[in-house]
Amino acid sequence: APAAVAPEVTVFRSKLPDIEIPSHLPLHDYCFARAAELPDAPCLIAAATGRTYTYAQTRLLCRRAAASLRVLGVRQGDRVMILLQNSVEFVLTFFGASFLGAVTTAGNPFCTPQEIHKQFRASGARLIVTQSAYVDKLRHEAFPRIGAASDDGGDGNALTVVTIDDAANTPEGCLAFWELVASADEATLPEVSISPDDPVALPFSSGTTGLPKGVVLTHGGQVSGVAQQVDGENPNLYMREGDVALCVLPLFHIFSLNSVLLCALRAGAAVMLMPRFEMGAMLEGIQRWRVTMAAVVPPLVLALAKNPALEKYDLSSIRIVLSGAAPLGKELVDALRARVPQAIFGQGYGMTEAGPVLSMCPAFAREPSPAKPGSCGTVVRNAELKVVDPDTGLSLGRNLPGEICIRGPQIMKGYLNDPEATARTIDVDGWLHTGDIGFVDDDDEVFIVDRVKELIKFKGFQVPPAELEALLLAHPSIADAAVVPQKNDAAGEVPVAFVVRAADSDIAEDAIKEFVSKQVVFYKRLHKVYFTHSIPKSASGKILRRELRAKLAATETA
Ligand code: ATP
Ligand code: MG
Repeated sequence: APAAVAPEVTVFRSKLPDIEIPSHLPLHDYCFARAAELPDAPCLIAAATGRTYTYAQTRLLCRRAAASLRVLGVRQGDRVMILLQNSVEFVLTFFGASFLGAVTTAGNPFCTPQEIHKQFRASGARLIVTQSAYVDKLRHEAFPRIGAASDDGGDGNALTVVTIDDAANTPEGCLAFWELVASADEATLPEVSISPDDPVALPFSSGTTGLPKGVVLTHGGQVSGVAQQVDGENPNLYMREGDVALCVLPLFHIFSLNSVLLCALRAGAAVMLMPRFEMGAMLEGIQRWRVTMAAVVPPLVLALAKNPALEKYDLSSIRIVLSGAAPLGKELVDALRARVPQAIFGQGYGMTEAGPVLSMCPAFAREPSPAKPGSCGTVVRNAELKVVDPDTGLSLGRNLPGEICIRGPQIMKGYLNDPEATARTIDVDGWLHTGDIGFVDDDDEVFIVDRVKELIKFKGFQVPPAELEALLLAHPSIADAAVVPQKNDAAGEVPVAFVVRAADSDIAEDAIKEFVSKQVVFYKRLHKVYFTHSIPKSASGKILRRELRAKLAATETA
C-alpha cells in the first residue's frame, strides 16, 4: 500500500514581518507601558462630563481601584463582574482587577436579570460593579442577597455590589465606588505573580447563533492580540500619542475592549468614552475632542451614511474608520466615505474566541498597503490562517471559500466550563475553527462570505444573506434590511427579506424583488419581502436573524 501522505496545507500569513511580543508581561503593565513616558498625555476622556484623565492619573486610579477591590476581598483568580455602560469606572475596574490577578467578566446592563444571572453564575463572580439604575435587576431572586459578606450570617454567600453613582445615591446594601477609591491606598497592593496563561477576561460571545458562550482570555493572549495590531516598527493598526479613539461601541463586547481600549492605551492614544450611542452627542464628541480613530459596526455605518445631520459637524479629524463585528457592504462604505472623504476606511475581522482579531485592513498600517473594498484585510502578524472545506476538513487554496481557521498566541484558552465545546472549536493542532465561510484572494486579503450556519441552501446552491443585505441597503428607498431562509417544498429553502422602508418611501415588494433580481444569479433572488419597522440587532452590531426566522416560523404555523 502507498505510504500515507500528509495532505498539503495552505497557510496564509501577514505580509508584515513577525514581531517580538512581550507576552511575559501582565496585561496592565503591557498596556500602561508608556504611562511613565507620557504621564501628562490624555488617556481617558469622559464625553458625558468632559473630564479628562492623564496617563499618570488613570494608572494611579486603576491601582487605587485594585486596592479597593482587595479591601472587598478580591484575590488573585477571583472573578469580578462589570455591568456598566462605557465609563471611566469600567476601565478602572477592568485594570484594577487585572493588577490583582483577578478576572473580569463584563455583561450587557440592558440584559434581563435572568440573562445577567446566567453570566454571573457561570463566571463565579461574587462582586458586581454597576450603576444604581441596574441594582434592581440584581435584587432578582436568582441572585444572592446584596450585602457585605460578613452580614450574611457567616455563609459568605452575600453579593457585594459597588455602584459608581454619586455616593449620596448609593442604593441600600451597596457600596460607593468613588468612596472606596478615595480611601484606598495603592501602596498596600501586594506583589502578584501573574503567568501569561492566567485568565484576565471572560467576555461572552454575542449570542448570534445560540446562547452567548463564556470565553477565557489570558494575559498572554490579550498582550499578543493587542501587539499584533499596534506594536512593531510598522504597526498594522497605527495609533500613536495625539490620537483620540472613539469608544462608543460597548466595552462589554471584545471588539471595543480590545481594539479600542487596550490598543489605544498601548499606543499612548486617548480614549473618548461615550456611555451610549446617541447620534448628536457622538458627532458633538468627535468634533469637540478631534477624534482620529473611529471604531464602528455596520449598523452605525448605516445610521451615519443615511443621516443628513453629518454635514453640520466638523469630522475632519477622523483619519481611520475601522468597521468590524459583522459584514459591511461596499455600497454602504461608499455612502459614508463621501461624507468623511479624508478618512481611510477598512475592516477588521474578529471573533471573541479568536482573541478577537483575525485580520486587519493593511491600509491602517504605518506604512500602508491598499485593501480592496469589501475585504477584511490580511491575517494579523504572528499568526497563521487557513481555509478548509467544511465537509472534509481539507485545506483549500486561494480564492476558494471554506471555513476560516486561525492559529496563534492570541486565541482563547477555551470556553468557560465547557471542555467539550472547546475541543470542538480548537483542534488538536491548535487551529481555532471560526464557523465563518470566507476566502483569501491573490493579494492575501480575507473576504468573509457569511457564517456556515447562516448560509441559505436553495436546492444545492448557497445563498449568503449578507450579500443580499448589502444590495438592499444600497437602495435609497430602503432604510434597513435583513435576509433569512424560508422553508420551501421545491427548493428546500428560499431567501426572503425583511425590509424597513426609508421615511416617505412606499416602495413595493415587486420593485424590491426586481431590484435584486437584476443584480444576482437566479438562485439568489428574493421570494418574498416583508415590510417591518426595525431589524433586530445585538448590542455588538449583529443582525439577529434567528429572531426573524422565528417570526417567519410563527407566521407559517399561524
Ligand atoms: P455567538 O458565537 O454567541 O453566536 P457571535 O459569533 O456573533 O455570537 P462574536 O464573537 O461577537 O459573537 O462575533 C464573531 C462573529 O462576527 C464572527 O464569527 C463573524 O461571523 C462576525 N464578524 C466579525 N467581524 C466581521 C467582519 N468584518 N465581516 C463579517 N463578519 C464579521
Ligand atoms: Mg460566534
